[in-house]
Amino acid sequence: MAILLTNDDGIYSEGLIALVNALRDLDEVVVVAPDSERSSIGHAITLRRPLRINKLCIDIGGCKNVYTCDGTPVDCVILGVSEVLKGKEVRAIISGINKGLNLGIDIVYSGTVAAAMEGALLGITSVAISADSTNLEVFKDAASFVRSFLPKLLEKGLPQHTFLNINFPKNPRGVRITKQGYRVYSGRVLKYEDPWGEKCYWISGDVIERLEYDSDIWAVSNGYISVTPLHVDLTNYECLGSLREWYL
Ligand code: MN
Repeated sequence: MAILLTNDDGIYSEGLIALVNALRDLDEVVVVAPDSERSSIGHAITLRRPLRINKLCIDIGGCKNVYTCDGTPVDCVILGVSEVLKGKEVRAIISGINKGLNLGIDIVYSGTVAAAMEGALLGITSVAISADSTNLEVFKDAASFVRSFLPKLLEKGLPQHTFLNINFPKNPRGVRITKQGYRVYSGRVLKYEDPWGEKCYWISGDVIERLEYDSDIWAVSNGYISVTPLHVDLTNYECLGSLREWYL
């Protein structure tokens, strides 16, 4: 049995090292992470070129089972389960700790969340965790939080294709079980000219959000750790009936 860790900030991210340190007493910990940062890459899977896995010859936080992959976070989960941990039971997949929160619509873009979603699709108890910081102390606190509830989560389990999205504020004052909040980005494209006079673009956006009670955004804004159960079914059930009514 083993716990698989990944992180879309790449193999050397401090959030990943904090998780290794916190979880290695619980079970065998195996890391398969992208060889460099792949944030905001969503659920991308590399299909048009072969992938490579390399075992690091140094250990991370005392863990010797550390592998890099030249693909995406979701590639890492697929290869981690089917190749690196082939024949072993994967008890849990933990993706993170991401440097930066994943709230509202961020879950659609996030490589951190996508890796946990892939774990859920594979039928494995999976958690995405993100912190409102790049500070090692906050990562340590967030990793301890995962360590504290993971045994109970493994005992209780989650419904099919469901996983947890956890967001960890600085100095939390408690935990809230939340819903996905309203946070979108106004599309903004910056246009430049490269040194050779060719046009190039930089996609960015400004945050637009609403503070709905008991949402992930509300919880973190009020100093609570946000734990949101997410499901891969994106159907809008409220709309299903009315759409059938006017379309059919
Ligand atoms: Mn990231």
